[in-house]
This record gives sequence, structure tokens and C-alpha cells, in this order.
Amino acid sequence: MSQKIQAIRGMNDILPQRTPYWQKLEAILRQLLASYGFNEIRMPIVEKTTLFKRAVGEVTDIVEKEMYTFDDRNGDSLSLRPEGTAPCVRAGIEHGLLYNQEQRLWYMGPMFRHERPQKGRYRQFHQLGVETFGIATPDVDAELILMTARLWNALDIADTVRLEINSLGSNEARAEYRDALVAFLTPIKDQLDEDSQKRLATNPLRILDSKNPNTQELVVDAPKLADYLDTESKEHFARLCQILDANGIEYQVNQKLVRGLDYYNRTVFEWITDKLGAQGTICAGGRYDGLTEQLGGHATTASGFAMGIERIVSLMEDTSPIEMSDADIFMVALGDIAEINAMQLAEAIRTGLPSLRVRTNFGGGNFKKQFKRADKSGASIALVIGEQETNDKTVGVKFLREHKEQLMVSQSEIVNQLQKIIEK
Ligand code: ATP
Ligand code: MG
Repeated sequence: MSQKIQAIRGMNDILPQRTPYWQKLEAILRQLLASYGFNEIRMPIVEKTTLFKRAVGEVTDIVEKEMYTFDDRNGDSLSLRPEGTAPCVRAGIEHGLLYNQEQRLWYMGPMFRHERPQKGRYRQFHQLGVETFGIATPDVDAELILMTARLWNALDIADTVRLEINSLGSNEARAEYRDALVAFLTPIKDQLDEDSQKRLATNPLRILDSKNPNTQELVVDAPKLADYLDTESKEHFARLCQILDANGIEYQVNQKLVRGLDYYNRTVFEWITDKLGAQGTICAGGRYDGLTEQLGGHATTASGFAMGIERIVSLMEDTSPIEMSDADIFMVALGDIAEINAMQLAEAIRTGLPSLRVRTNFGGGNFKKQFKRADKSGASIALVIGEQETNDKTVGVKFLREHKEQLMVSQSEIVNQLQKIIEK
């Protein structure tokens, strides 16, 4: 035997026992997004490396150490997308979707980051990204949050998640705060963890959400961003809170919530669960009013979020398991002529009742063997055809999960009968 070839570490096959969760989530998401007036956009998986350097930021974890970057055959530096906002803004500018208009867009697909694989953290993972453009007011930030809250309800996982929000203020306010923070941390630099020491020069706000317990303790007394906020940002945040309150959305203001990407301003938020260990953030987003201009477009306000599909699927599996079955109706037929008859009948049912899953599985064998397969398929009804039924143009309806008498139905009536049975 030759050696087996395995998948790349951190890149997962999603197997049939798990795809029902993905399908359920995707179906609910499509419907939900449409109900809030969002339209889908699809971007390539590969972009020029400079796009992410400029948008996400040179000194972020993503660009510094997580990107899959390679030279194209003609020498251009390309990267597998680590996130979708930068590609979405790039596409929006390129196709004139953003200038002087409102857009509500979403996309779903794989993202790539070279991280250490563990539960909830993979090298190929999937995000739903939602981006709005041209709406400066806090009502749209609130609506993004309301939409996600509605999703948790639809998925039956609302009890396991909580919301944290914060305001990062304007760029100017943040710059002022940054100086104050650096002034506070510089004298105690030696006591910070190694990553935070580096960040002091490059991205000091990120020190606030360091996972290092010692660093966390040191920043307790640091200056507070809230004290540096500009008036408009304060008003924006107050209005956001007011709308959330009016809609019964519970939240915690977390002053240390700064997000890992450079492009955010004003509103930032995260939905967090305690059920997935350290990988607890299932959805994160905020406002990024400066990004479009930063990527060469006209200044356009923007607000959005991304959610990690794998983490949400994990929560669904733990909290509201889906009962698996391969079929609703299983055709059982004995003999060559009955088999052909059963296949014709299966086709007629698929035409008449396309939402039903009809499985044929003759593969020889006696009735007993076939009923075993029917049972294993999870079907609730077996339709039985033998020589007699073929001659009489009838079909036996056997209920596999309920104590109900077997019925004998005329083949021309079977679609109507099944319809009545499912409606009950
Ligand atoms: P984390 O702090 O967990 O690394 P992040 O801040 O890097 O998250 P974002 O860039 O905001 O994450 O991405 C949005 C969401 O995408 C995250 O909240 C998470 O649910 C999901 N996500 C991010 N990285 C991964 C990954 N490597 N594997 C699986 N899901 C991920
Ligand atoms: Mg990360």
C-alpha cells in the first residue's frame, strides 16, 4: 500500500454528520439577512498582500504572523484572505458601490490564518461577514446587534452568549488616549509580558486586551479610554445604548474591548460564550469609517461584523443537537418488476412532494434485510411493493416510528395520501 495523504493541519473536512448544522445555520442566515435588507457579495479568496497590510495594519497579529503569503508565478505577492472586510471594501471601491450611496452587504466563506490549531481555532475557518456603507448614525450599529441577537434566538443558543460593547472614539481622541496610555505604561515596561512590550511601540491599545494575567493586573489603573472620548463619539455611543435598551438587548460596557484590527473607530462589540473555552468570541465587529479612504476610495462611513461559523456550529452541537436522518420515505421492493415499479413511484413522489427525501435501496435482499436498511436510514415511512402490489397497482404504507396499522393505498393516490400524512 502506498502512503496515505492527509489534509493540511488546521484545515478541516466537514463530514456528513456535521453538514446539517452548517446547512441549518446557512439557511437561517440567508433568510435573516434578507429580512434586514442585505444583499450578498462574493469576492475571490486570494488578494494582493498589500491590501491586507494597508487595511488590517502592518503591526497586527494577522499581518505579522498569520497570513498565508506567496509569490504568484509572475512575482506578485499574494495572500489567502485572512478576513473579508478589506476585500469587500476593495471590491466596493473598484465597482463604484460605495461612493455616495448606502450599501448593506454580506458574504460567507473560508478565511485563512496560520495560527496554532486547537478547538475553535483553525487555519482554514469560515466567516459570515456583514458590512454596511454610507450610514453614519448609531441606529445601524444597533441594527447589526439586533440582527445577531435574533440569530442566537433562531438557533436556540441565546442563553449561552453575552454581548460586550465599547466606543473607541474618533482617531484624534484615540491618538490622545494612546499617548496617555504609553506615558502610563512606559515606566512599568519591564513588568509587561513580551508581546505587550513590543506593542507599547506599535499598537499600545492592544495591551489592554492582553490575555497575560500579570499584564491584566498592571493595566487596571491605566487611564480610561472613556475619559478621552470626543463629544460626538460619546453621543453616538449613548444613542446606541439607548436603542439597545429600548429593544431589551442586554450588554456589558467593556472599556478594555479594543479589537485586534487597526481599522475600527467608535462602536466596537463582541458576542462571547463561556462554553468554548478560550475561543469564546463568536461574533465581533464595529465601525470603520476611515477604511474606505485608507484604501483609496472616497471617504465613506462603514459598520459591520464577522462571525466564526465553526464556533457557532460547535455551540449548536452542544446546545441544540439536530436529529439526524437520511430519509423520510424508504422504498422497499421485492423482485425485478416490483423494483422498476417502486422506482417509478419514487420519481412520482419526488415530483409531487419535492420537500420529502425519498430513498430507494433495493440492492437485493429479502424484505427483512430491506426493512433493516429502512430503519437505519431514519425514514418514518416505508413504502412496500411486492409482486401482488405491482399487479394490483397498490402500495403498502408502513409506519416505522409509530404504532399505526399498515395501510394499503392505490398507487395513483399515494402522493395525495402522503401529503395528508405529513400535514397531520
Ligand atoms: P480571536 O481573538 O479568537 O483570535 P480575532 O479577533 O482574531 O479572534 P476576528 O478577526 O475579529 O477574530 O474574526 C471574527 C471572528 O472569526 C472571531 O470572533 C471568531 O469567531 C472567528 N475566528 C477568527 N479566527 C479564527 C480561527 N483561526 N478559527 C476559527 N474561527 C476564527
Ligand atoms: Mg485572532
